[in-house]
Amino acid sequence: MTDLEKMREKLQNQINYHNILYYQKSKPEISDAEYDELKKKLAAIEPEAYATQDSVGAPPDERFSKVEHQEPMLSLENAYDEQGVEKFLSKIKRFLIADEIEILCEPKIDGLSFSAIYEDGKFVKAATRGDGFVGEDVTHNVATIKGFPKFLQDVQGRLEVRGEIYISNSDFLKLNENNEFANPRNAAAGSLKQLNANITAKRPLRYFAYSLIGGIEKSQSEVLEKLEKLGFCVNEHRSLTSSLNGMLKFYNEIYDCRYNLDYDIDGIVYKVNDLVLQSRLGSTHKAPRSALAYKFSAIYAKTKLNKIFIQVGRTGVLTPVADLVPVNIGGVLVSRASLHNQDEIKRKDIREGDVVTIKRAGDVIPQIVKVDEGSRHTNMPEFVFPDICPECGSKVQIEGVAVRCPEEFNCKAQIVEKLKHFVSKDAFDIVGLGEKQIKFFYDLELIRQIPDIFILEERLKEFSLKEHHGWGEKSIANLLSAIQSRRVISLDRFIFSLGIRFIGQVVAELLANYYVSYDNWYNSMSSNDVELVGIDGIGEKVAESLKSFFSQERNIKMLNDLTAYLQILPVSSNSSDSFLNNKIIVFTGKLRAMSRGEAKVRAKVLGAKISSSLSTKTDYLIAGEDPGSKYKKAMELGVEILDEEQWNRLC
Ligand SMILES: [Zn+2]
Repeated sequence: MTDLEKMREKLQNQINYHNILYYQKSKPEISDAEYDELKKKLAAIEPEAYATQDSVGAPPDERFSKVEHQEPMLSLENAYDEQGVEKFLSKIKRFLIADEIEILCEPKIDGLSFSAIYEDGKFVKAATRGDGFVGEDVTHNVATIKGFPKFLQDVQGRLEVRGEIYISNSDFLKLNENNEFANPRNAAAGSLKQLNANITAKRPLRYFAYSLIGGIEKSQSEVLEKLEKLGFCVNEHRSLTSSLNGMLKFYNEIYDCRYNLDYDIDGIVYKVNDLVLQSRLGSTHKAPRSALAYKFSAIYAKTKLNKIFIQVGRTGVLTPVADLVPVNIGGVLVSRASLHNQDEIKRKDIREGDVVTIKRAGDVIPQIVKVDEGSRHTNMPEFVFPDICPECGSKVQIEGVAVRCPEEFNCKAQIVEKLKHFVSKDAFDIVGLGEKQIKFFYDLELIRQIPDIFILEERLKEFSLKEHHGWGEKSIANLLSAIQSRRVISLDRFIFSLGIRFIGQVVAELLANYYVSYDNWYNSMSSNDVELVGIDGIGEKVAESLKSFFSQERNIKMLNDLTAYLQILPVSSNSSDSFLNNKIIVFTGKLRAMSRGEAKVRAKVLGAKISSSLSTKTDYLIAGEDPGSKYKKAMELGVEILDEEQWNRLC
């Protein structure tokens, strides 16, 4: 197999894997945008693979009976830009040798396709699309959907209705309180594909019908009218046009007002209106030639900003956040966007009630890219940034672009955020102590500061938690044992978990490696002899922040209380017998055999601590070519100097 073939196979396997998760299990592991990315990569190798999305689908779930579709349920060819739409229109005109063709434009509902069969007007069977040829029997489940017709007036023989089942955005937000589903469509799929239809009946499923097989209608617009007459829910938005401009106009109109719909659409569907022409056009093996889906961007969307509210973070910074009308971007329902700070709001002139363009890419927090000023109502006031903390009412302080609440030890929001950080996954990782529980214990005055976590067990002996909703004997026992199991912790995690400003994981690790033990770190920090800035990778800001933290008596007391409950493991180096272990070294000049970066990594592996400034504490100066002033200073201080040859022998 060539490399290209291997890559092709790998990509295809990945796509198949995600297809199964997505279509069969309704439990996707990746976002739609990431899925599209895989498909694009495959398309680069195998162009026809990208022509249609969902072209493969997945074989029907074995737990359900199979239903063979009399006519395959094909997916649609996709376009991602105006050129794609233009190409589609000119292609069908050429195919039919026609100058003008009527196109019906409809929103593309982002739900789950279904087919429903009626015999002499009686609903007899419903199926999912499955792989397009064979679907899953979901008759009992579909029968529970509110407003789904069981009997049709004046219908003889076999009639098949197709459409899309979905859950509205607002219903989804209510249903998904525990974040069980990635987006409304997954929730709809998970709700429909239940072996027990009673569960389906409890879910807020809705549907739109858009296609009819076995009728006498002559056009797609007549089909929609007929479906309405028969009592089906049919989407109200549609437009008949025969020009490219008309098609694009409909797309833009729907794109602009999409947030008002309360259900997900992921694009526009264009269909040749005349059903005779549709059948003349026929289909490729994957998609009908008579229809096209013009997909919305997976990164940008427009929506309305309801309100700007202020969050107070762990370090007291007031951050404005936009509360949005939920809109689906790349498979994720977005209802919040970061506004960063006061300046950002001013610079972009963002006001409550504005229609805004949101960008969501990867796992980055969604951002507001721009405001649609044309849609702003007159007299909409500018946003006024509060001058008191919305959480505790203290007067805020301005620090550059940041606005901060100074009440570090009294502001509930800051304390709760600090506690949240302390128990988070990369810190103490205490399972079962989330935001909800922290606020709960805070309000009961059981946990008011970090050390309280470790005396919770003591305190609960005089407190009956079981009287409070949501706490069973088992959940209490689980929480206490989770806390108990975290009493031993590595130094770097410990430092990180304190949530000191500017001390992230990387800096915490640098500090831990440099100071090796907690006592050593604590003693150095609380003495005046702090040489932090010398540590490689640690700047002025971090040093200032640590100084300020250790200058507060309450922090010192907190540390002393806390460490009494803990065993903090010193940094163990596998290099304890290395010559450089625990030695402080400084580099100067250019090394010939390796880059400075590589030399530093090797030194760290050997247990050395790297500093960027010389002092009497420095053990060795490693001097390469053209060493400069440090060389002279080392001589003056009496620091031992190693040349490159000596250094190379050591590592
Ligand atoms: Zn406050």
